[in-house]
Amino acid sequence: MAVSELARTIIESPTLRLNEEARLLRERGEPVIHLGIGEPKNKTPIAAILASAAKLSQGDVKYCPTDGTPSLKKAIIRYTEEHYDKVVAPENVIVSAGAKQCIFNLLYCILNPQDEVVILAPYWVSYPEMVKMCYGVPVVVTPEDGTFHPRMADIERVVGSNTKAIIINSPNNPSGIVYREEFIAQIIDFCERRKIYVIMDDIYHKLVFDGKRAPSAYQFTTRDLEDSRVLVINGIAKLYGMTGFRIGWCVAPRPLVQVMTNVQAQTTSCGSPVMQAGAEGALIGLQSMVEGLRLQIQNNRDVAMRELSSFNGVKTHKPDGTFYCLPDFRAYSGDSVELSRFLLKKALVVTVPGREFGMEGHLRLSFAGSVKDVTEGIARIKWALDPTSPNDIYIGDKKLIRDWL
Ligand code: PMP
Repeated sequence: MAVSELARTIIESPTLRLNEEARLLRERGEPVIHLGIGEPKNKTPIAAILASAAKLSQGDVKYCPTDGTPSLKKAIIRYTEEHYDKVVAPENVIVSAGAKQCIFNLLYCILNPQDEVVILAPYWVSYPEMVKMCYGVPVVVTPEDGTFHPRMADIERVVGSNTKAIIINSPNNPSGIVYREEFIAQIIDFCERRKIYVIMDDIYHKLVFDGKRAPSAYQFTTRDLEDSRVLVINGIAKLYGMTGFRIGWCVAPRPLVQVMTNVQAQTTSCGSPVMQAGAEGALIGLQSMVEGLRLQIQNNRDVAMRELSSFNGVKTHKPDGTFYCLPDFRAYSGDSVELSRFLLKKALVVTVPGREFGMEGHLRLSFAGSVKDVTEGIARIKWALDPTSPNDIYIGDKKLIRDWL
């Protein structure tokens, strides 16, 4: 089949592929535990259900403004003021079908062919692919000290005249790390001096544990938004567990939002007004569920850390946010793709290979599910890999004997 050279280079989304594999196994009755998935198991907040149902029951679901319904934009402006202490105008906000579409749209609007975008490893799998889809060049910076904290000096080394943007995702998918304040301050100062865009992917910014806070980029710029290089991406997917609503947004200077709106008008016309009503409902409704979800996930994080600490040889950084951790499994295998496949086959546990995030030898484990799934999933991994664990295990009602160690 004839497909473009560019399209041919774009990899399949590994997380979505794994979701599909897990779904097919479950359909066959296999008791799969999904530690790959990037979404909490909560029910949609009632305020979101009621708001979207009200919109739907009006029977008047038509095109709406390309950049988002005025009332959702109002709710986003209020959110930005409350959580970022930043007052922005409706012309600074564009709503898209998920944070993912916002990031793509943004990259499409700022990149010329061969422009470089600095991406910090471990990184969200979609960044390099999206940069390539916009004819840009992803430039990956990997911390050499074995931590997940990039250093400013390593970034400065790769920045050149072709560098157009840096993407920062903190709290970070896949490591759960929250970047330090000094680091964010250095990045903002450096990028503003060098006229480089800083794309802050803040999709997990309120999902932070132990009373910590994710620093906001706006804290470190004195510039007016119109004159700033800071572009902030956010959405409802993670915070409210509303991944299927597909609503995200970008806050940026007006001329850029205008260009993004033109591009979106030619590609998607507008986001669904039903889903936008739901997003608005979530943003203006009772916020206690967000705190409830955060506490539940923090507890899951603690359970995951406790279970992982019983492994011989697995090294783990304790996540400060998100619902992911990225343990180092190199004591068992240097090939994370093979290891992940092995664990799915032998122990029916879905994990995501670290290679996909620029961290070979690691596996990303999600603790967004139930405590039972986290505990049992990690116990199964331990059974499959660690010779000091008991030789047999029950998976569903089947007793399995380990005969490969
Ligand atoms: N950024 C990061 C870092 C993510 O992990 C995800 C979802 N996995 C997104 C953006 C996309 O969010 P949305 O579902 O709103 O498109």
